[in-house]
Amino acid sequence: MLDLIIKGGTVVTPDGVGIMDVGVQGEQIAAVAGPGVLDDVGAGETIDATGMIVLPGGIEPHAHINVPVPDYWAGGDDGVFTQPPEGASRAAAFGGVTTYVDFAGALPLTPGAVPPADPIMAQIEQRRDIFRGHSYTDYTFHYILAGAIPPSTMGEIGEAIQSGVASFKIFTTFHARVPMGHLWEIFQEVGKHGGIMAVHAEEDDIVTYMEEKLEREGRDHASNLHLAHNNISEDISFRKVVRLAQKTETGIYFVHTTAKEGVAAIAEARAAQLPVYGEALHNYLEFTCDDYLKPDGLAIHTYPAIKFSDDREALQQGLVDGPICTTATDEWTPTRTSSWPGTRYEPFAADITESRRECR
Ligand SMILES: [Zn+2]
Repeated sequence: MLDLIIKGGTVVTPDGVGIMDVGVQGEQIAAVAGPGVLDDVGAGETIDATGMIVLPGGIEPHAHINVPVPDYWAGGDDGVFTQPPEGASRAAAFGGVTTYVDFAGALPLTPGAVPPADPIMAQIEQRRDIFRGHSYTDYTFHYILAGAIPPSTMGEIGEAIQSGVASFKIFTTFHARVPMGHLWEIFQEVGKHGGIMAVHAEEDDIVTYMEEKLEREGRDHASNLHLAHNNISEDISFRKVVRLAQKTETGIYFVHTTAKEGVAAIAEARAAQLPVYGEALHNYLEFTCDDYLKPDGLAIHTYPAIKFSDDREALQQGLVDGPICTTATDEWTPTRTSSWPGTRYEPFAADITESRRECR
């Protein structure tokens, strides 16, 4: 006998959408079956979901919960955090998400933040302490490596993967940028032990050059962020990362793919049988850089910048064809923990110059 059957809903599965029944045993989905098939098995409880959409076991692969918000994004206030696990996981559950993947390790958005000295697994445990007993859904973590990585940390990667922390996040831009030599070493360790890299890939030299050029020309309003965090940057950076992954036999998960060039780089890698996966955020699938010009238009921004309509189309088509394998929110909701749900903060500065000061 099952604990629960959710009957008659329009069920979304990886293979298609249809009227189906979902059987739950303990905390796990035990069966997804045609209407009535599970009736013979019986259940302790039955929920009639007729007319509703049922998403069994949705995964949010990219969330930032209960992390400090840099004071430049919090109106000069310190002590502001993104929302705690209670609120974020409750919202996730309402959207059909039963597991989310958050982050542990370095704080990549806080300039000058010294990467924690504790061992990787100790930091994972510290993050688990924040979530344990406070989350409505399951959770796990990508581990963020930032800057120059000491040999001792490199030596912990294998153990972390054996312990189930298999995904390592790195940046190729911003102050958290990992130098290429260190990246090579990380990829080798992660590849050797069967983990995967989660990569924020932008070509830092191009981004920096364009920021300075736009500032020099007086065009550094944040509505031009896509000219700095641009298509050629994604093209070159993705291809460098894929090349490194190929040489080190490492799996790559490109977080927030934003451009047709990124989609093409992933598609080519996958056609060559490489384990390379793309993620798209709702912002990039829905909006274009033209939306930056609307009132409050910068509220939809995240890095890398939102690109053009043909990029949006390539991302949408990529979801259908395969190179874009997941959608994520990059959940980042600043709130005062003392007065939750708190004040809505303007998330980004009004000009690129400012954003460069913030992020470098
Ligand atoms: Zn993120």
